[in-house]
Amino acid sequence: MGSSNPITVEDLAKSGDTAPLIEVRGLRKTYQLGETEVHALRGVSVSISAGDFVAIMGASGSGKSTFMNILGCLDKPTVGQYLLEGIDVAGLTKKELARIRNQKIGFVFQNFNLLGRTSALENTELPMLYSRVSKKDRENRARAALALVGLAERAGHFPSQLSGGQQQRVAIARALANQPSLLLADEPTGNLDSRTAVEIIEIFQRLNAKGLTIVLVTHEPDIAQFAKREIVFRDGHIKRDDVVPSPQLASELLKTLPTIED
Ligand code: ADP
Ligand code: MG
Repeated sequence: MGSSNPITVEDLAKSGDTAPLIEVRGLRKTYQLGETEVHALRGVSVSISAGDFVAIMGASGSGKSTFMNILGCLDKPTVGQYLLEGIDVAGLTKKELARIRNQKIGFVFQNFNLLGRTSALENTELPMLYSRVSKKDRENRARAALALVGLAERAGHFPSQLSGGQQQRVAIARALANQPSLLLADEPTGNLDSRTAVEIIEIFQRLNAKGLTIVLVTHEPDIAQFAKREIVFRDGHIKRDDVVPSPQLASELLKTLPTIED
């Protein structure tokens, strides 16, 4: 892949690997709160293939975010193994972990987490500051990522000048900047109205169709129906892990929903 070319959806296609992208065995996470131990994960084993689109459901406190933080190499399990693309994450140094986070994983959060006094373009360029990309390529790739999420014309806007849905789209563009193989989204539609939520999911489905692996936390059953697979957490365990029989197409649903002015 020529680094000077702007990214396209095709560049994100990284499926076709036979080994699972994510392999997790006997994952436990215990937080020490003074005298008490909080068991956030109590033995979670799961494998996720490249190209999958997984919705993680479960009540508040069931361990979803803890699980996502471990998948994202933001936190380490107390016990258990995590293989990412066949690499045992436990054996990596902090520096190697940071590199993996930056190069292989894109993050999207409920609160967008954009830098406020920074344009959409600069926000999107951020992850590339830590990789060897020239200034010009950085801008080209950021513009391409913004175009991918439908925000080409808003590159110069600051977060305060954008709607919630637009801010989340900037966050998605930023997550895509380094062409990750895994997109982790923790309640990405939690702060959005229902049409805007479906618009965000439409982007995810489009990216997933081109091979990007997505793991998305949601507490809305309607949103989970857009994924290919649904995993339900309960009290730090996986309670259910099912294929979604025929995932709904966000692009189709959008045609039936009234538009709100941008
Ligand atoms: P969810 O995302 O499903 O709401 P979390 O993974 O955030 O659940 O939390 C699982 C459990 O672990 C909860 O009981 C929560 O209070 C606890 N927990 C999460 N993070 C911490 C932390 N940093 N310190 C102590 N307890 C925590
Ligand atoms: Mg959570």
